[in-house]
Amino acid sequence: MGGAFKIGRFSGIDVRVHWTFFLLLAYFAFIGYRASGSLLGALTDTVTIVALFICVLLHEFGHSLVAQRLGLEILSITLLPLGGVSNLESLPEKPSDEVKITLAGPLVNVVLAPIFFGVGLLLGAVPRMPTDLFTGIGSVGQFFFYLGYLNVVLAVFNLIPAFPLDGGRVLRALLAIRLGALRATDISSRVGQLFAAAFFLIGLLGGNFLLALVALFIFFGATGEAQMVRQQETTRGLSVSEVMGTKSRTETVTPYHTFGQVLDSVIHGYQEDFPVVEDGHLVGMITREEIMAAAHSPERYSSVRELMKTNVPTISSQADLFEEALPILQQSGLRALPVTEKGELVGMLTIEDVGQASLLRRLPREVSRIGNRTTSQETASR
Ligand SMILES: [Zn+2]
Repeated sequence: MGGAFKIGRFSGIDVRVHWTFFLLLAYFAFIGYRASGSLLGALTDTVTIVALFICVLLHEFGHSLVAQRLGLEILSITLLPLGGVSNLESLPEKPSDEVKITLAGPLVNVVLAPIFFGVGLLLGAVPRMPTDLFTGIGSVGQFFFYLGYLNVVLAVFNLIPAFPLDGGRVLRALLAIRLGALRATDISSRVGQLFAAAFFLIGLLGGNFLLALVALFIFFGATGEAQMVRQQETTRGLSVSEVMGTKSRTETVTPYHTFGQVLDSVIHGYQEDFPVVEDGHLVGMITREEIMAAAHSPERYSSVRELMKTNVPTISSQADLFEEALPILQQSGLRALPVTEKGELVGMLTIEDVGQASLLRRLPREVSRIGNRTTSQETASR
């Protein structure tokens, strides 16, 4: 992410802060100073925001450390004025993994809240919320009590099922078990957009512009991630039959074809590799290599049978394109593989077919998780 710089590293994960975060600190310091008329007031605010973002960071580490244990690579965690973002190299494949990773974040806040409440009470806090963040935190005990409250808010707000908030991710994962990732993402991002529209209206009508801003982030986050998943899913599980050249478009030869006939096909057609079929069964393949070598050979080959490769790997039309067919194609050293169904030739899969499919498959390298975009909204609303 541009404009962010590294402040540390833990468990192999870079922690980064976006420069706009310091605008937020300066803003709250200014508000605190104006409200209290003292530098102490400015400092209290700044310290509160920093403490809140440490909780946000711990929340993100909750996600990231569980993701790491499940074998996913975490690139970095970035703190933004509206919350934290964990950059995962890829999204979890299994819905149950996504649930575990997602719930680990709010769980951190659920654990932190009673700890802060306890510390606050031990330090003599009165169990009530400050009426005003900027002048209301009168003691260190009260500060900790307030942090406990902020952690409750972090947990609750993030669990709202407004995708891509954590609650929305859990919703998607649960839907995905029955409906598949694609429909689950469509539905949960629609729900997220509805929440976002409601937050936006409430924020606008209530004069809470930060809530309106958070709503925009949820809205575009939901839209963007739905698009990404759609792209990912449309090429996942692509089978050979979906991209291969079908039999009607594949020129075949028999073992009895003469060398001259095959040479003629290479010169006048687009195809360079020909499956050899005898009595409806695939018996071999003759490739451009053999044809060209034979053309320059002093020996006089008369038929395809003398030239064809017989130990040619084949691939089933139902095989997964990237998982199964591509490795076989690469190992064979061939530019094309005959595709069969029950021993019968049904088409040809070429390197070009795979290349075109992988163009569709290309994904952005960084997948951003929009975690708790809500954190500063809460403090700003009082
Ligand atoms: Zn989260």
